[in-house]
Amino acid sequence: MTNNLYACFRSRFPADENKPFILQANGRALTYADLEQQTAQMAGTLLSLGISKADRVAVQVEKTPEAVILYLACLRIGAIYLPLNTAYTSDELGYFIGDATPGLLVCAPAKAEQLAPIASIHNVAHLLTLDGTGSGSLMSHYHSVAPETGIADVSKDDVAAILYTSGTTGRSKGAMLTHENLASNAAVLHSYWGWNAQDTLLHALPIFHVHGLFVAIHCVLMNGSAMWFLPKFDVREVMDLLPHSTVLMGVPTFYTRLLEQDDFTRTSCANMRLFISGSAPLLEDTFTRFRQRTGMTILERYGMTEAGMITSNPLEGERVAGTVGYPLPGVSARLARTTAPGETGVLEIKGPNVFKGYWNMPEKTAEEFTDDGYFITGDIACLADDQRISIVGRAKDLIISGGYNVYPKEIELIIDAVEGVRESAVIAAPHPDLGEAVVAVVVPHDGYILTEQTVLDSLEGQLARFKQPKKVLFYKDLPRNTMGKVQKALLRKECSLLFP
Ligand code: ATP
Ligand code: MG
Repeated sequence: MTNNLYACFRSRFPADENKPFILQANGRALTYADLEQQTAQMAGTLLSLGISKADRVAVQVEKTPEAVILYLACLRIGAIYLPLNTAYTSDELGYFIGDATPGLLVCAPAKAEQLAPIASIHNVAHLLTLDGTGSGSLMSHYHSVAPETGIADVSKDDVAAILYTSGTTGRSKGAMLTHENLASNAAVLHSYWGWNAQDTLLHALPIFHVHGLFVAIHCVLMNGSAMWFLPKFDVREVMDLLPHSTVLMGVPTFYTRLLEQDDFTRTSCANMRLFISGSAPLLEDTFTRFRQRTGMTILERYGMTEAGMITSNPLEGERVAGTVGYPLPGVSARLARTTAPGETGVLEIKGPNVFKGYWNMPEKTAEEFTDDGYFITGDIACLADDQRISIVGRAKDLIISGGYNVYPKEIELIIDAVEGVRESAVIAAPHPDLGEAVVAVVVPHDGYILTEQTVLDSLEGQLARFKQPKKVLFYKDLPRNTMGKVQKALLRKECSLLFP
């Protein structure tokens, strides 16, 4: 039996291969038979370009079925797929290309000219294009080669993909994920979330990140069922497709956007069985309003580039707001340096889903593992009596003010409850006396005018003095990246000179 992840998917194809895998709102569909034939054709294309096992294929393209085919074709031949955020500029791409040294770079036609010198400096053998309609020079090659119908033999430990982390806390690192990492996580999620033959996924996430590429697509492939494949999250398009879907995976902003629609109701969700949220913390307010409006409870889970999914709220049983549930089967999780339930500590994990290491960074990799082989996630968590995990924040966001530890999330939750506050982010700013001072960035609800004093007054009595913000700033929106993560590093930079 081969360890190739594509072979694992193929063994799960529906008996009737004329059933759809990808459905598009424009009426186009791609069946499982098409999938098999087109990935073989794309595998032949890659081989004809001289790409072979372990070569990197870097891809920065719009979300199309062809991009999915390209990913799966890389698996088939044992090449390493390397998706890149479409928001990255050509300059930023230089770092990733230089680091990963791919043999092939596939980009949008509009970027090809700017990327040509970068590709050439880093000796990338081929620079080809793929556009948002599924055409481009890659496809010209595709139509002129013979298919490769075989599936390469790989070992469990062979790298299937390199995904760069989101760069929220510093420079993005390339996480090497093996065929086994991906296959084990896919199997666990498929069973944990109760996938069944009637399921249809509504796929509105980007596919350059773990959430959209692995969690979403792998569950569908393990299930041999169909997904609606939207080029991006368009709230009205999602509303139109909800009655024809059963599962939605989203970042928290998907859910706040849906709640802004007056016609988003119990009726619109009548066909849905599961709403899943992750990639960034889901506010308790969103969780509660969603439940009131639809009668359904969002299932929050937690994961990261380096390990895929780590914990999940249960399918059956209570889903608790503000928590990310239990470690998934096969994952052991513990908190560093804690002794009693309820204490916070950095979350460490071990399991078949945990990555092989950072590409080109053996030292960084070694630093992030404990002596007994646990991966140090860098997230601060809290473990309840019943083993439920809550993510309190990132170790790097922890504020040390006047020698005291301040957890931003504790303060954010209290500020968020102040009347007129939509959301907030609490960060550290360098301070001459305290080392770091607590700074709150507050986003008011439309129509509310808040002042620093009103916010500070409402915190009085609720927070020890050392946790109270030394400064409150008002923003129209918090800066977020495409995965909905608040860019605290950016806020810290903007606030670096507040206390000269
Ligand atoms: P970098 O590692 O480059 O700083 P990043 O950690 O944001 O970037 P990702 O791997 O995309 O890159 O994100 C994983 C992180 O997202 C987790 O470590 C965690 O901090 C956060 N996260 C994911 N899901 C949740 C969740 N449900 N609740 C809270 N945080 C979450
Ligand atoms: Mg990270």
